[in-house]
Amino acid sequence: MLITPNYSNTYCFNPKKAVQTVTYKKEVTSSPSQKQIFFGADNSLDMWFWWLPSGSSSRSSSRSESSSKSESRTMPIMDKSVMRNKVTFDDIGGLSKKTLEEIKIATQATLIHPEIFTAVDVNPEKNIILVSPPGCGKTMIAQAIANENQCNFISIKPSDLRGEFISNTEKNISKLFKEAREKAPCIIFIDEMEGLTAMRKANSTSNHDNIALNQLLMEIQGINGNNKGVRIIGATNRLDMVDDAIKRDGRFDYIIEIPMPDKKGCEDVFKKVNKRRTIEEGLDLSKFSTKLSGLSPASIKALSDEAATNCLRRSGILEKALQTNDPINLKDYNLTLTKLDFEKALKTVEERNNLRKGNAASQTNLAH
Ligand code: ATP
Repeated sequence: MLITPNYSNTYCFNPKKAVQTVTYKKEVTSSPSQKQIFFGADNSLDMWFWWLPSGSSSRSSSRSESSSKSESRTMPIMDKSVMRNKVTFDDIGGLSKKTLEEIKIATQATLIHPEIFTAVDVNPEKNIILVSPPGCGKTMIAQAIANENQCNFISIKPSDLRGEFISNTEKNISKLFKEAREKAPCIIFIDEMEGLTAMRKANSTSNHDNIALNQLLMEIQGINGNNKGVRIIGATNRLDMVDDAIKRDGRFDYIIEIPMPDKKGCEDVFKKVNKRRTIEEGLDLSKFSTKLSGLSPASIKALSDEAATNCLRRSGILEKALQTNDPINLKDYNLTLTKLDFEKALKTVEERNNLRKGNAASQTNLAH
């Protein structure tokens, strides 16, 4: 059985166009060439689109009825957050000017003006690897690259590619690149890239993974077809675990490190993740940001969300929400976040992080 991998169904197609369209349904029915159906992903700023075969509707796809368990992961989920937003570089905090420039040269310049590179005999089809500790925005950066350059976006993990039989894995890989070429300009985002190495090492008694990896490497280099307008962005927390054959020049020419934010970076992330919230004037964001040192941007986002939830609790609106199914008049509540909301949230996040560290430690102890 050929297990349809996530990638074949997942697109972030030009969100700018989608936003201009009043409803997504119009988008789907008005353009037969665009078969994207929406799905609001975990990131509230994301705009993800799920591809269905012609004639499918988002809810009543025969596919969804007959699909296997693994396929059902790829089914579209209705979500009203679909039209909310799209990731731009402006949403990403803490990126240094140098890093941003490096990212833009590797992507924007080579995608929009390949001719300047060919003029000096440089192949513009450059792929990049983003390296950072967890939660530093690699996925967001890839999404922003796709969005700002109006590219389609296909997101996969190495495990998505692996079929039960080598023929299926091969089909998955060639389908991935075929689709990307057809949808060019297109970004293929390979998350957890170190998994590709595992692909080679796992099951060493079989040639399955080696064959698959070699095919993938060839596709990355465009040997089996023209990769014009296709860029591969890999992401990893463990560059040391990524096979040398994968990360060598010619396959991934740019290796861009996204460090944990420094003091100024934390402040920038803090301001960006809270930019749509009302915060009491008494709270000095710069001063508060000094308490965020050592937290990843994902933790700063979690802290800010926790503070916003504290505000909902304190204002009484949460209690009201539990009491009634009737619409709630937001104007009756003061939804301004206070310093105390953030202080409490900081404590909660610190406690959670300690718990995580504690759990990790206890699991290590168990392992020994
Ligand atoms: P992982 O290595 O675990 O896959 P990642 O580096 O890909 O993580 P993201 O998934 O992009 O990190 O980030 C998780 C969430 O953290 C984002 O959805 C966003 O809300 C927030 N976030 C991460 N980095 C930033 C940033 N630089 N600025 C603002 N928000 C950020």
